[in-house]
Amino acid sequence: MNTLIKNTAIFVLALLLQQCSYSQSSSLPNSNTNTMDTSKKTNNPAYSHTDNTPVNLTNEQWKKILPKDVYEVARQKGTERAWTSPLEELKDVGTYYCAVCGNPLFKSDTKFESGCGWPSFYQPISKSSIIYAADHSYGMDRTEVMCGRCKSHLGHVFNDGPPPTHLRYCINGVVLDFEKAKEAEKKYNADKQ
Ligand SMILES: [Zn+2]
Repeated sequence: MNTLIKNTAIFVLALLLQQCSYSQSSSLPNSNTNTMDTSKKTNNPAYSHTDNTPVNLTNEQWKKILPKDVYEVARQKGTERAWTSPLEELKDVGTYYCAVCGNPLFKSDTKFESGCGWPSFYQPISKSSIIYAADHSYGMDRTEVMCGRCKSHLGHVFNDGPPPTHLRYCINGVVLDFEKAKEAEKKYNADKQ
């Protein structure tokens, strides 16, 4: 009797495992469409919150590493739909990093409600966090904002922000990673030791 129960259990377990692997393979037809947050980092050799050496990967390489939505904004200069980022309304204290390479970009205390539908900041963490380029696309004169480490497109900067800078960094939430202050602090201290 016991053996029967054991065998049945093994059979059911085997079935479950099989189903699990089927559902995994069907939801992930190939690595390019992988949108899981955790794999984004484990697949990404360039990702670091502390290494500030420049990252120069080709778009072909990025396409294999990044989730599709991140790739389209970061590497194809796309724009996410307004009001779609959960980071737009986030008020937690912490640090915003480049979702492509992990470069620290903005602190939460420079974030403000701009009403434009994208996460907005008035100042980057440091001068080297961001690089700028003139953008004349769509018949507009705008200043494009890119990650200072991996040159990924982040958004634009405008001159209608609040004091002290009067700048508004209008950033696509999909290319930002947020980490709460305590977690970031713990990691920073661990890296220093
Ligand atoms: Zn970056």
